[in-house]
Amino acid sequence: MVAYMDHKDLANQSISQERAVQIQDGINRVMERIARSEQRSGRQEGSVTLLAATKTRDVGEIMAAIDAGVRLIGENRPQEVTAKADGLIEACRERGLRLGGDPAESRVAGFHLIGQLQSNKINKVLPYVDTVESVDGLDLARKLASRALARGLVEGILLEVNESGEEAKSGCGPDRALDLAYELADMEGIRLDGLMTIGAHVDDETVIRRGFSHLRGLRDTIRSSGESGTGSCTQLSMGMTGDMDYAVAEGSTIVRVGTAIFGPRAFI
Ligand SMILES: *Cc1c(COP(=O)(O)O)cnc(C)c1O
Repeated sequence: MVAYMDHKDLANQSISQERAVQIQDGINRVMERIARSEQRSGRQEGSVTLLAATKTRDVGEIMAAIDAGVRLIGENRPQEVTAKADGLIEACRERGLRLGGDPAESRVAGFHLIGQLQSNKINKVLPYVDTVESVDGLDLARKLASRALARGLVEGILLEVNESGEEAKSGCGPDRALDLAYELADMEGIRLDGLMTIGAHVDDETVIRRGFSHLRGLRDTIRSSGESGTGSCTQLSMGMTGDMDYAVAEGSTIVRVGTAIFGPRAFI
């Protein structure tokens, strides 16, 4: 167990009306921000999906986001997935929603894993998350694929690329991304839906945008390669609270936003 999980009951379902309104306001502000960025960069309205990054938030807070219109959530840690999943599934069911699946379908809320996954945790998350955004190597991909096959599933994945080269970050090197993507795309049991990156931790717009733009170039190369299984490689998960406007301008299709929706995290 991660120490911070002792501070908060992540399965808690009931939050104050005031907190629910805060979260709803957060969602509304972020949706407006996305719409403005889409418009400014000449992109079609609604082409960017908001993923609520829900680490450290409890079931009640996450359901407030879903009630405000969010249809895609992302957790970082397998332990948080398992602590919240049953409560989330039940609360979604009460609202006529199924948790896990393609949010483009009506009545579905997508559930992604956006943080690092160790192979001994694969079986913990597979029953719940429909997509693992943080696949960054062959070993993890192979294990994920075989566990998914054993369950009769095809798991969605994104290949995480470390565009900034910052050492603290996970993700494969940009120079390895194409070869890796072609191998993953061809594996049974997983479906390569696109690429993911975390923006450079700097203030320089040019540097941040260069990483996003490079990721888009990789996605375009993969998609037009004609290699087996690359037809589904359409998504670009990039942009967080601090850099989502740049990411939308560079072609992001999924922005992963926590702080701008829920406020600052009390821990982690
Ligand atoms: C926490 C997290 C986010 C959201 O970050 P904010 O700055 O709070 O918007 C996005 N992506 C990943 C992988 C994260 O861990």
